[in-house]
Amino acid sequence: MVASDAAKTQWRELYHEVVETNLCTGCAACVMACPRDVLDYDHTTSYHPFNVELSTAFDDCVHGERGCDICTRACPRFRAWEIDSDEALFGRPREADEVVGIHRGIWLTRAADPAVLAAGQDGGLVSALLIWGLETDRIEGALTSRLSTTRLWDCEPFLATNQAEVLEAAGSRYTYAANPLAMKEAERRGLKRLALVGMSCQASINGTLAARRLNKYARRIELTIGLLCSKSFEYEGMKQVITEEYGIPLEDVAKVNIKGKFQLWRRSTGEQVDIPLKRMQAATREGCRQCPDFAAQHADISTGGLGQRDGWTLTIVRTQRGEDWLNGAIQAGVVEARPGEEDPNALALMAKLAIRSRERWPIAPGTLDGSGAPRLLPIAGVSAGGATSAAAAS
Ligand SMILES: Cc1cc2nc3c(=O)[nH]c(=O)nc-3n(C[C@H](O)[C@H](O)[C@H](O)COP(=O)(O)OP(=O)(O)OC[C@H]3O[C@@H](n4cnc5c(N)ncnc54)[C@H](O)[C@@H]3O)c2cc1C
Ligand code: SF4
Ligand code: SF4
Repeated sequence: MVASDAAKTQWRELYHEVVETNLCTGCAACVMACPRDVLDYDHTTSYHPFNVELSTAFDDCVHGERGCDICTRACPRFRAWEIDSDEALFGRPREADEVVGIHRGIWLTRAADPAVLAAGQDGGLVSALLIWGLETDRIEGALTSRLSTTRLWDCEPFLATNQAEVLEAAGSRYTYAANPLAMKEAERRGLKRLALVGMSCQASINGTLAARRLNKYARRIELTIGLLCSKSFEYEGMKQVITEEYGIPLEDVAKVNIKGKFQLWRRSTGEQVDIPLKRMQAATREGCRQCPDFAAQHADISTGGLGQRDGWTLTIVRTQRGEDWLNGAIQAGVVEARPGEEDPNALALMAKLAIRSRERWPIAPGTLDGSGAPRLLPIAGVSAGGATSAAAAS
């Protein structure tokens, strides 16, 4: 692509092609990478980046007019992002039958330390890897999220630099934290060897930074851990369903999870309350409605909770460095693993959900577009019209 495709582009193209069309996921990679601090982000009002420079129009940038194209190069939804990232990370585009993306192996994993396992959402694999990476000096910090300090059950980007902070960040929240923004804090503290944790959309910057040679950041991120994801929620909408429709104060929510439904556990009684996902539909973020990537296809390691036994993280190893990290942690005794094939239902469900997410992209996979949105790579079972046998069966 890459340099050529993104050449002579700037915030104007990014705004009109990605932000205005709601392909924008709110990952904030553009804000992280902007060398002039022209772009900003306020997720309490919107998940979209905006131009804060007063001398130019909202959809223009004075530095862009002079040739700066860094925001477009960072963006994992701009133009041919999927094929660019595949080629940069794996040396080839995905084949049609690689429905969960290119990978080297699939495992079920969990943290060996009971305290880490207990803190984790599934098997605590993410936290175990981060703690091991910090303790062995592979990284100096991790770009993660933690519960918001100002809004109950919302979350915010967080730089974790030790075991206590990793455990503070552990578990899943289902609102959105743009974890790449924690890079700003890492820069302030002079930390240069980092892990990035984030949902599929955020994990894709692993590919765009490499593909479009944003070396300053590509070099700093030693490992990207993706979280499988089909949606996240607007804070106010989620709060409205829980507190008004179900009458549960947020102070009484001890844990949340999504397993086919939105689950929460009440602090006061220990009761589990199941909320059908369709009740939460209106709270789904706009950027998620067109997101085609369930399986965090460009992470070094992708992780999810689809395993049919609680307490294990479904773990997709994609890159050489992802494999080195996982093998190192297993050999060090901090992570336990068993083959993914032991759980065929989890693998089948992941494939089905991955196909379903790809159907959300506005241009049907494998077809040529003409509308400005980039096409995705072909996918097995998807017709030109986007219908799939897997989706039809679901
Ligand atoms: C919004 C969201 C949707 C998800 N949807 C699915 C799904 O549909 N199917 C599925 O199988 N798995 C899904 N997951 C992934 C799953 O919930 C676990 O995160 C994953 O299995 C890793 O578990 P673990 O115990 O190894 O991680 P842990 O050790 O618990 O670490 C989790 C890491 O994720 C980070 N994190 C948590 N919430 C957020 C957030 N909102 N924004 C950014 N970072 C966050 C934490 O800071 C922590 O570093 C989703 C996760 C999120 C956050
Ligand atoms: S998808 Fe991410 S990088 Fe692209 S415009 Fe939106 S916030 Fe910026
Ligand atoms: S569905 Fe998940 S990965 Fe996709 S944009 Fe929404 S939060 Fe990001």
